[in-house]
Amino acid sequence: MKDDMFPEEIRPHLIPEPGGELYYKCLGCDAEYGIEKLLYVCPACNQVLLIHDREQDRLKKIPGTTWQKIFDYRKMLKIPALKGIYRYHEFIGPSLPLSSIIYLGEGHTPVVEASALLQERVGAQFYYKNDGQNPSASFKDRGMASALSSIKYLIDQNLVSDVIAVCASTGDTSAAAALYASYLGPLIKSAVLLPHKKVTSAQLAQPLGSGANVFEIPGVFDDCMKVVEHLSGKYPVVLLNSKNAWRILGQESYSYEIAQDFDWDMTNKVVLVPIGNAGNISAVMNGFLKFYRTGIINTLPKVIGVQSEHADPVYRYYLEPDEDKRKFVPVDTRPSVAQAAMIGNPVSMPRVVSIAKEYNALSGKKNVFVVQVKEQDIMDWQLTANQNGHITCTQGGECLAGLVTAKAQGIVTPDECAILDATAHAIKFSGFQDMYFKKEIPDAYGIAPDEAFINLPELIIPDDSELIPSQEKRLGAAEFGRFVDEISGKIAKKLEL
Ligand SMILES: *Cc1c(COP(=O)(O)O)cnc(C)c1O
Ligand SMILES: [Zn+2]
Repeated sequence: MKDDMFPEEIRPHLIPEPGGELYYKCLGCDAEYGIEKLLYVCPACNQVLLIHDREQDRLKKIPGTTWQKIFDYRKMLKIPALKGIYRYHEFIGPSLPLSSIIYLGEGHTPVVEASALLQERVGAQFYYKNDGQNPSASFKDRGMASALSSIKYLIDQNLVSDVIAVCASTGDTSAAAALYASYLGPLIKSAVLLPHKKVTSAQLAQPLGSGANVFEIPGVFDDCMKVVEHLSGKYPVVLLNSKNAWRILGQESYSYEIAQDFDWDMTNKVVLVPIGNAGNISAVMNGFLKFYRTGIINTLPKVIGVQSEHADPVYRYYLEPDEDKRKFVPVDTRPSVAQAAMIGNPVSMPRVVSIAKEYNALSGKKNVFVVQVKEQDIMDWQLTANQNGHITCTQGGECLAGLVTAKAQGIVTPDECAILDATAHAIKFSGFQDMYFKKEIPDAYGIAPDEAFINLPELIIPDDSELIPSQEKRLGAAEFGRFVDEISGKIAKKLEL
């Protein structure tokens, strides 16, 4: 749509100008720092940071209903910088000029309603939001678009140069980091650290394909993270893990999109996300909080975090009902098919504690929950979802198992409607499906494959070995006719045609 066709009242807001005044705030000691520096933890107390806008209240001068229209009309724009997460520029990175924004097709992932049959089976109304349909096939692209745009801005301002970006990863962060860094070509080099044999082959292929330096380290993700923290403390590298507060800002877009997709009505909505490093759930809560405070959504949806019993430090923390008695204790993880969330010492734990407290307070009730699920249920619900038209990864299976658990515990009521995060695409995690179908899942996962889900290919060959064609040996016309006839007959019999 051309500029002059937009309504008069929307036109001044349609294309955002750089504004606001962003700063880092420490979650430990409340110290504040400027965003022109590369900063990941508080130099005074070593705690994680969040980015705030000193002029956030200026956004309240525009009525919530006008914001809704602004975002709806922005959908019609053809400006690349505003096609992805920066449709919500004023809430995601208001200080960035459009010229610094990187857009690789992230965000605005489809919200797909589960089929009537599947909803009946689960006993709840629900949708999947397919974040596996992002460019590197996971939600991590949202945070990476934000982090790399912020770095591009610092480069454009000559505040940094020759950037070397590093991250530790359970697989998807490195795929996203390598992709976005490679887009900036020689301006930025990326290095990723992965736990040896703890990422899927697709996830390993992704950063290699993007040309990143890939290092495999013995141990688990938490061990890789320690090495990256050591590197970033000692050398001038840019950290792309979710310690980087820009990642959180970008991932808030997930909530903004849900709000827009449901026409800004959050009544009776429940949002379920898997928890690993806890960056995503922090961002999701923060996003809803910002939209609620600005009057863009009418209420705060219920938020439910889901953890596997093999990696459940956040669940354990909230088991203690008395807030003052809660104590965070990292756990040693056990093997989990929700491997991207297999984290025992989540970096964003202080963010979760602080934001969830605010979320509950503003909701006027307990509105943030964490449930724990079994490995068996993660796999079985993932397979069930995908055998009913979805494309969810194991972490999305974890969300569905979480919905079933939350419903059984009365956390989700029959009048509510859930939105589940399919955080990555099914094909990234097809190795687990493969092991399940072949009954080769190692005992440590604690999963017994259920025959009802198992699906393996069947080789159909003719009885007469002379009738087997190959690339080297082509059959004559008559033989080939018999081959087609025999194979069709066998398939028809199998399908009971
Ligand atoms: C990173 C990741 C998670 C966990 O998100 P956190 O922000 O670390 O809690 C879940 N699922 C997938 C597919 C991921 O890549
Ligand atoms: Zn501090």
